[in-house]
Amino acid sequence: MPRARNAQAAPAVHRTARIGLRLTCAQRQRCFGLLRSAGDVWACTLEINQWRRHRGDQPAASYQTLCRLLAESGPGTFGELDTTGARSVLRRYSDAWFSAAARRRAGAVEVRFPRRRRALMPVRWYHGTFTLIGRTLRLPVARGRPPLVVRLKREMPYPPGSMRSVTLLFTDGRLCIDVTAELPLITHPAARAPDPQRVAGIDLGIIHPFAVAGPGGEALLVSGRAIRAEHRLHLADTKQRSRPVAARAPRRGQRGSRRWRKTRRRARLVEGRHKRRVRQALHEAAKTVIGWAVERRVGTLTVGDPRGVLNLNAGRRHNLRLRQWQIGRTLQILQDKAALAGIRVHLVDERGSSSTCPACRKRIPKPSGRNLSCRHCQFAGHRDLAAAFTIATRTPGGATTTPTRVLGGVVTHRRAGRHLPGAATARRDPRRRPPRTAAGSLGRRRPAPSQGSRSLTPVSGDPQHHRTNPGERSWTPL
Ligand SMILES: [Zn+2]
Repeated sequence: MPRARNAQAAPAVHRTARIGLRLTCAQRQRCFGLLRSAGDVWACTLEINQWRRHRGDQPAASYQTLCRLLAESGPGTFGELDTTGARSVLRRYSDAWFSAAARRRAGAVEVRFPRRRRALMPVRWYHGTFTLIGRTLRLPVARGRPPLVVRLKREMPYPPGSMRSVTLLFTDGRLCIDVTAELPLITHPAARAPDPQRVAGIDLGIIHPFAVAGPGGEALLVSGRAIRAEHRLHLADTKQRSRPVAARAPRRGQRGSRRWRKTRRRARLVEGRHKRRVRQALHEAAKTVIGWAVERRVGTLTVGDPRGVLNLNAGRRHNLRLRQWQIGRTLQILQDKAALAGIRVHLVDERGSSSTCPACRKRIPKPSGRNLSCRHCQFAGHRDLAAAFTIATRTPGGATTTPTRVLGGVVTHRRAGRHLPGAATARRDPRRRPPRTAAGSLGRRRPAPSQGSRSLTPVSGDPQHHRTNPGERSWTPL
């Protein structure tokens, strides 16, 4: 639930950065202790409401009621967790309960109230209860316990005064801190400010996450081939990793071995790395689009919303492709960045946009390749850009300066995910590269060459080597 803001305050957005932690063993234990205690708070809340339901009482769902119950439990019930941290769990429960209730009232009967226990639960502390100076974060703990001071892996990427909260959580096999800041909207000089009458259409896709057609026929194409390759390689790796261990996986209800736990931990780390890589690439792609739009003073982005295709069953392979596309997240990232830059985003129906000629507006068969050519008017151009152009004309309210020229201007090409393995060097097996070593280093230590029949000396420099024919002397008798 958001904090009540002053109505006169300047418009602002909230942004969160995830930062890793550098911890000693003792600090790690204490952090896990906090998360586990938070999990206990969550489990207690679930249990209390279970009893109430059995008794036929009203559930305790409001934040105030839950806080009162927490106060009644007294200090020391939840280990080192302080009241603020414990209350953040209650807030999480209350928010989840009321959002479920609202959605059920709206007719979504499949939505359920929170009911699942978690061993580790994220803990959030609000502004004023913690201190973050540089990379040193001091987290509050229960009274009488020694202070918990941890070190972040990098500095917070926001200005110091903007901080609102920090959240301690365990995700993808790592302990991290989420730092949330309240940022004012970017102010542009009047001459450079985005103009809402200047519209660009955006077509979302897999090969091109963003194809943008702007005013004056200018366009931007962001290639997502590296992201797609990352998905494929990750799938291949996962298969290869899981095949040899699948037979040893514990059955249901069976306790896994320590070895199995290690295997699972490794899988979780790799999975987390893959997720971070893809997310980073999507953020970079969206940033490119917003930067491009700001430079051209585009104030309205009209985005074709393709989420209708998600409900269709397209077969095993294509279903996976559609899931990996992450349209919802891509849209969210774009909307967040647009909001910060002061650009409006409209979602419109994209149906038929890739099978309509942008020049004469006639229906043509959807091309199988990337190039679209119209047989009615001789138009030829990039398929995704043509679709983006058609989407731009669907802006609600009909902005006056929708692109007038059909794709005659400069097309900018950008790649998303330059950091992904394989985006730069060999395409074939990009994960096997020689180890990176510091200048002057000998590199990885390797075993000495075996003392076998082969010598490392070049043939010409070997005094023992026979270069004579059989029966011939290689030495001169005295
Ligand atoms: Zn045409």
